[in-house]
Amino acid sequence: MAQQKPETDPKQAKQAILDYCARKGALAAGVADLTAINRIAPEGHRPADIMPRVKSVISLGVGGQTQGAWTVPAKAMGYFGSTETRAYAIAYGCAFFIESRFRTRAVYCPPDLDNESGPRVPLQSLKLHAELAGIGARSLAGDILLHPEFGYMYFASVFTELELPPNRPMAENPCPHSSCVEMYRQVGQTPCMKFCPVQCLSGTIDEAGRQSEMHYDMAKCAELSEQYESLPLILAEAMRAETPEEQESVLMDPDNSMLWYKMSVGSGGLLAQCFECMRVCPIATRAPLADPIRRAEAAAEDGET
Ligand code: SF4
Ligand code: SF4
Repeated sequence: MAQQKPETDPKQAKQAILDYCARKGALAAGVADLTAINRIAPEGHRPADIMPRVKSVISLGVGGQTQGAWTVPAKAMGYFGSTETRAYAIAYGCAFFIESRFRTRAVYCPPDLDNESGPRVPLQSLKLHAELAGIGARSLAGDILLHPEFGYMYFASVFTELELPPNRPMAENPCPHSSCVEMYRQVGQTPCMKFCPVQCLSGTIDEAGRQSEMHYDMAKCAELSEQYESLPLILAEAMRAETPEEQESVLMDPDNSMLWYKMSVGSGGLLAQCFECMRVCPIATRAPLADPIRRAEAAAEDGET
């Protein structure tokens, strides 16, 4: 005979889940308000479209690049992947943890694209989950989420039928940083806007030094940095070539052969950004706990006091 499920205290369950995420390496985790997600996410992209009886959405973030990564030249950055797979691994584990500890259904939220909507529409917005869970705020750099302590993170989400109390979004947005406001007042652009190689970022800052408008040309950014989108175009061009020489020149052009190389070694760089907007961002690179060196120094200081 099946045993009755023990009563679960929502607050204690939430704490146990957030502790699990922290133990596994998440820098931040929280619970997004499901009603708010349903209000903002379009039909077809709400959590219940993946998990019909979902009651809570947990979002977690892991640290971005090492401090050293920001010092390498752009041509090396082109090979950098992101750290998002670490976030996905924690989310997978978290779903298993919830089911075994609380005997309630949970799933890892697929971070992938919606195959019915084209290559730029995700099944779910992990960004929205993280923003509503209070672990990141939208920046002037194409809405990349930034955190005042951890800077730039990668996010993953878990859905569960367990009822958990939600967090609130951050009360203050760390972007724009005061030095970015100063630069904007002088030259009309913030560092991320000025140094984006394809000038796909623009926006305005109000009198109080807050974001008032942000524009992001996703297609321009994707052309430069989301290289998986280039592959079908190269193949189509090669198929249209009229001579074997022309075909070889399309496929083996130095820029294009870099893509084959990245694929052959399984480089996450195919899905990366070009990172230049974040390389010049004072929050991404200099937030107090933005990289392993800063986190180790902070932990050492805490140990001393
Ligand atoms: S990733 Fe590169 S192309 Fe995209 S917004 Fe940032 S700097 Fe611009
Ligand atoms: S550089 Fe960073 S902090 Fe400054 S405006 Fe851009 S995203 Fe915001």
